[in-house]
Amino acid sequence: MVRAVIVGGGGTGDAAAFALRMRGFEGEVVIVSADLDRPYDRPYMSKEFLRGEIELPKVFLHEEADYPKERIELRLNERVSGGSLRERRLTLVGGGEIDFDVLVLGLGGTPRRLPDLPSAENVLTLRSLRDSSTLREALVHASRLLLIGAGFIGAEVAASARKLGKEVLMVEALPVPLQRALGREVGQIYAELHRRRGVDVRTGARVEHWHTDRNRVTGVTLTGGKREDADLVLVAVGIEPNLDLPRALGLDIEGGGVRADAALKAADNVYVGGDVALHDHPVFGRAIRVEHWEVAKGHGRGIAASIASGDASYTKIPYFWSDQYDVNLEYRGQASGDDTAVWRGDREALVFTVFYLRGGLVEAVLSMNDTKTNELGGKLIESRRPVDASSLANPAVDLAALIGAGQATG
Ligand SMILES: Cc1cc2nc3c(=O)[nH]c(=O)nc-3n(C[C@H](O)[C@H](O)[C@H](O)COP(=O)(O)OP(=O)(O)OC[C@H]3O[C@@H](n4cnc5c(N)ncnc54)[C@H](O)[C@@H]3O)c2cc1C
Repeated sequence: MVRAVIVGGGGTGDAAAFALRMRGFEGEVVIVSADLDRPYDRPYMSKEFLRGEIELPKVFLHEEADYPKERIELRLNERVSGGSLRERRLTLVGGGEIDFDVLVLGLGGTPRRLPDLPSAENVLTLRSLRDSSTLREALVHASRLLLIGAGFIGAEVAASARKLGKEVLMVEALPVPLQRALGREVGQIYAELHRRRGVDVRTGARVEHWHTDRNRVTGVTLTGGKREDADLVLVAVGIEPNLDLPRALGLDIEGGGVRADAALKAADNVYVGGDVALHDHPVFGRAIRVEHWEVAKGHGRGIAASIASGDASYTKIPYFWSDQYDVNLEYRGQASGDDTAVWRGDREALVFTVFYLRGGLVEAVLSMNDTKTNELGGKLIESRRPVDASSLANPAVDLAALIGAGQATG
């Protein structure tokens, strides 16, 4: 019997396993996951679960019984260290081997550490359910949280901690929060949003000195500043994609990911998805790598389709969201720094959309509290139809008409 082995029990791996069954794959399906818990909804870890608004088992993607019911063998707390693609065999940390006919890698990433960080019991990172439980418990006893890094995880945890009534000091080396993902102007909107909600936002700032007492950080001195107290620290400075295993297997590594074709195939019978996949995207005509939840799940489903029915290009446009306070951000596509940004809507009221254009084509669309426009923007990206900036900026122009009414309502 054909055996599909999926390494990684996150967004990609879980979606791939269940989609294989939905598509009528009759072979064995095995998930090998280093995680201690069965697959869960990772985005809750900086939001509802962290704040205690949603509890176990609601964070899990499936009931425990669904795995045997769907004949998915779930091997938790097991890590694959290497193997041979030629022999179609994986080796496990601590001994043991597992053979495969087809291999899926959805390995995610590991939070980056800071080189000069003292090892202290109140300095945490956030990736897993266990990390979130630890942070949640620590927040109960903390009064001032120091956040190092104002990317999505840092910004969402800041919002959650404020909701829990904690003081928050946010330290970001770049000029505004979320600059890498969203650019300077939208980042500035987030800086103001967090300040209005009581976060002490320090941008263009770095830690010069860590103050410690026994095994705990008690505060920091920022460059050119005075001492700041803190009794809990979260380091949220991005992830390193987990590439040790792909390297050990001899897969091509490029642009921080495993190089894959448009069908998410990295080698014969080997597919890769989620945070670690750098894959050709037919709509954009270039290779992209995206670290977002819906993309990981979409990759899992796309890989399952290729395994069950033959390789097909994965053409879905990347999508992600972020909730901070009562502000919902949605983003479709992938912009680069030199795209032209066209604004539509009410910036002050935080109900707006930004279109990112390159050569007259919409490459990405970012919306704050503006779901409908974001959906239409996604269709504009897919259409690959040139649009002019003044029409996009003019709220009187019907976007659906720009796409073609048939597609817009479809
Ligand atoms: C706190 C938090 C909040 C987030 N919020 C959002 C959000 O609001 N919106 C959004 O779009 N995205 C969000 N993300 C990002 C999103 O969760 C990730 O992009 C997504 O989980 C990536 O899926 P993946 O399958 O690539 O990896 P993961 O979901 O990280 O899964 C990787 C799996 O691989 C396992 N693994 C790794 N190496 C091995 C090995 N050698 N052997 C065995 N198992 C291994 C890991 O244990 C894990 O089970 C958030 C991420 C975090 C951490």
